Amino acid sequence: MHPTRTGTRPIPQTPAPTRTLSGITPSGSLTLGNYLGALRRFVDGQDSTSGSRDSYYFIADLHALTMPHDPQQQRELTLETAALYFAAGLDPSRCAVFVQSQVRAHVELSYLLESTAYVGELSRMIQFKEKGGRPRTRASLFTYPCLMAADILLYDTHVVPVGSDQSQHVELARDVAARFNQAYGETFVIPRFVPPASAARLGDLADPARKMSKSAPPSATGVIRMLDTPDVIARKIGKAVTDSGNEVHYDPAAKPGVSNLLDITAALVGTTPESVAEQCPSYGVLKRACTEAVVATLEPIRHRYAELVADRSSLLATLADGANQASAQADLVVRRAKHAMGLLC
Ligand code: ATP
Ligand code: MG
Repeated sequence: MHPTRTGTRPIPQTPAPTRTLSGITPSGSLTLGNYLGALRRFVDGQDSTSGSRDSYYFIADLHALTMPHDPQQQRELTLETAALYFAAGLDPSRCAVFVQSQVRAHVELSYLLESTAYVGELSRMIQFKEKGGRPRTRASLFTYPCLMAADILLYDTHVVPVGSDQSQHVELARDVAARFNQAYGETFVIPRFVPPASAARLGDLADPARKMSKSAPPSATGVIRMLDTPDVIARKIGKAVTDSGNEVHYDPAAKPGVSNLLDITAALVGTTPESVAEQCPSYGVLKRACTEAVVATLEPIRHRYAELVADRSSLLATLADGANQASAQADLVVRRAKHAMGLLC
């Protein structure tokens, strides 16, 4: 809070509301892209201005059902993702961490929003165009932006920290919320998409034009996983495609491979890609600097992760506590929305 003065009396300023919510789908082992675009920012944002435990971070297991999956592996990935949230620094005494399917209100509000969104806007979603559009595409892949809008709107969220690939979904949540408010009266807070300051869209090291994605096959050499060992990280970065020529400078259009490595290194050491480039006279030096920065960040997380998964029952108890806290808030908003739409509640 920054008090301002008129005469001698400080006038307290109300801080801009910053209730934060975000989630990651357990559709694969988390990547460095998930860390820089999302998880690291969850950790930075876990202390909201309006009080403790006012940020909500969830594991979006319902979203994983939009694609074929193995149930046993799904459960394991959900727990792995949760343990990585805590290992990366989320503190359950400062924010609510929960599994989406354990808070029933998500599915409930999702249906109300399916009855608000239009088929035309859902068909325009890039992810649906990329992954769906076939006769055997799951219906949930078409409607899941409504579930994502529900995820956000249930918590009266102001700020949604996600990577730039998710901006279209947050935009849809805003449109649907505004349409609902106009049709049925003020019900939802209109959320804001907040892109990362750096490394908003890490490229795959083997094909930098493609986004680094956790649903890539486990054998993908261009995807750094948060649980990769230092050896594996060094090998993947060593094999990263670079560009013709041998000069290190930052130019994402002309030098996408080198620029991707510069983005990664800069985001991890807290500087600009241009200044990393100045300190790296060759591709080899850049790859070594990048490896060092990635290993220095991920190694402590990997060790904490090993401790956390060793105590599965305490992990499950922490998640159950987070789900209770989230439900208390989400149930209020569902009731508000049901009442506004004319449902008995
Ligand atoms: P999938 O392949 O299953 O879609 P994903 O790696 O794209 O997996 P999501 O669950 O879709 O991950 O997204 C989780 C969060 O990670 C989102 O905030 C998203 O913007 C961010 N994110 C995903 N990939 C990257 C990336 N390459 N660079 C920066 N942020 C990313
Ligand atoms: Mg994705």
